[in-house]
Amino acid sequence: MHLYQNQLLKIYNSLSGEKEIFKPINDGNVGMYVCGPTVYSNVHLGNVRTFMSFDVIFRYLLHLEYKVRYVRNITDVGHIVDDIDEGEDKIAKKARIEQLEPMEIVQRYTVDFHSILDKYNFLPPSIEPTATGHIIEQIQIVEQIIEKGFAYITNGSVYFDVVKFNENHNYGKLSGRNIEDMLANTRDTEGQSDKKNPQDFALWKKAEPEHIMRWPSPWGIGFPGWHLECTAMSTKYLGETFDIHGGGMDLKFPHHECEIAQNEACTGSSPVNYWMHANMLTLNGKKMAKSTGNNILPSDIFTGDSPFLSKAFSPNVARFFMLQAHYRSVLDFSNDAILAAEKGFERLMDSLQNIDSIEPSSNSSINIENWKKSCYDAMNDDFNTPILIAQLFEGIKFVNQLNDKRETITALDLTLLKTTLETFTFDVLGIKNEKSVNNNSEKLEGVVEMLIGMRNDARANKNWSLSDEIRDKLLAIGIQLKDGKEGTTFSI
Ligand code: AMP
Ligand code: ZN
Repeated sequence: MHLYQNQLLKIYNSLSGEKEIFKPINDGNVGMYVCGPTVYSNVHLGNVRTFMSFDVIFRYLLHLEYKVRYVRNITDVGHIVDDIDEGEDKIAKKARIEQLEPMEIVQRYTVDFHSILDKYNFLPPSIEPTATGHIIEQIQIVEQIIEKGFAYITNGSVYFDVVKFNENHNYGKLSGRNIEDMLANTRDTEGQSDKKNPQDFALWKKAEPEHIMRWPSPWGIGFPGWHLECTAMSTKYLGETFDIHGGGMDLKFPHHECEIAQNEACTGSSPVNYWMHANMLTLNGKKMAKSTGNNILPSDIFTGDSPFLSKAFSPNVARFFMLQAHYRSVLDFSNDAILAAEKGFERLMDSLQNIDSIEPSSNSSINIENWKKSCYDAMNDDFNTPILIAQLFEGIKFVNQLNDKRETITALDLTLLKTTLETFTFDVLGIKNEKSVNNNSEKLEGVVEMLIGMRNDARANKNWSLSDEIRDKLLAIGIQLKDGKEGTTFSI
């Protein structure tokens, strides 16, 4: 029997505004799509927070033994500056400024994105599709929407007819917006736009001669609309209706609202059962954004090279800092806040080391099963990582009490305490086990020191052949000994 069959996982669904019991479409399997980055510049720490929220969700679903297909795309075309339909593509603009091919921009920032996520110990998604790799699928969806009567062609571009769609669907059901209000509150763009209504959005845009990203289509040379790529890639790999769709809160409208409309127009069915939105990371009270300069790069954290930081921090500390807030709460980044997180993080790591010195006894005075259940309860309550972390500190309290011999524990319970603490810290929260890495290098240093000591003894006994043998064999595996006035040192 799989562990997940005992679990009652609740997820806050942005569509209903309620926490709902999670029931996947296919028992034991989860399909999850998360909007990926637009690769026209380095990701900032705010972007990392959103992706980390979903990394932990992915990790916990895996821990519950679901078979998860996690799709996170790369947006490499179609995202227009200011998230509107008129204007320049973010990637094309950067390519023009830097005098590079758009795909050189895409490559540079995709590599950066991957290396950052690697440093922050992310699990790779199951599929990472690109928008430019799915132009044919996007064109097919536009054709279907036209066929169903929910889109119109003007001057080589295709627009989604929001007003027509709203006649028998609910445009605005995710974001809580009302189309009449939206229409009343938007400027009249008559004469400036090819759209029938300002709320209509582009499915396909005609490429002007100067537009460098362009593909042939039944409507002429052009490029796909931003919202379309996610509909194409999510349904291609996860089916017409799938379990979870995630992204940052700022994508709820228009991006995700438009995804719902596209899918419903095309197939008649709602694409997603659970919509999840991660909240923003702010910096000293203001939203972190690429465009305003109010941001920290994820690499600034481990170099400390930022006016916002007093020193460098390990990516683990930044991960721990971010997971101390629930994914649906706004989190404010400040030097003081990450300094405080570092203290807590070190306390957690030290205690994990101290478990091994606990001596078991014949009975337990603490209820480990109950405590373990509280860890699951925290995560089952809409992935509540701050409560989980509070529970991990409760576990640490046990470790300290046991080491002080103020409580007792059986060998079986001790194993349960250790595995639960380690599983939630490393596998679920995704903290990299730095101490074990350091430990290995410490152990290696200890072994070399021991060999230096044996070589010193050999030299004192004038056993030159043994002393040379130790030196040469160490050198053969890349460890060089250097004899100096202060004794022997080594480099690895
Ligand atoms: P983008 O590359 O701009 O499409 O953004 C990638 C992801 O980061 C999206 O899910 C955004 O919602 C999210 N995001 C953008 N800014 C922030 C922020 N300040 N805090 C958290 N997430 C953000
Ligand atoms: Zn998307």
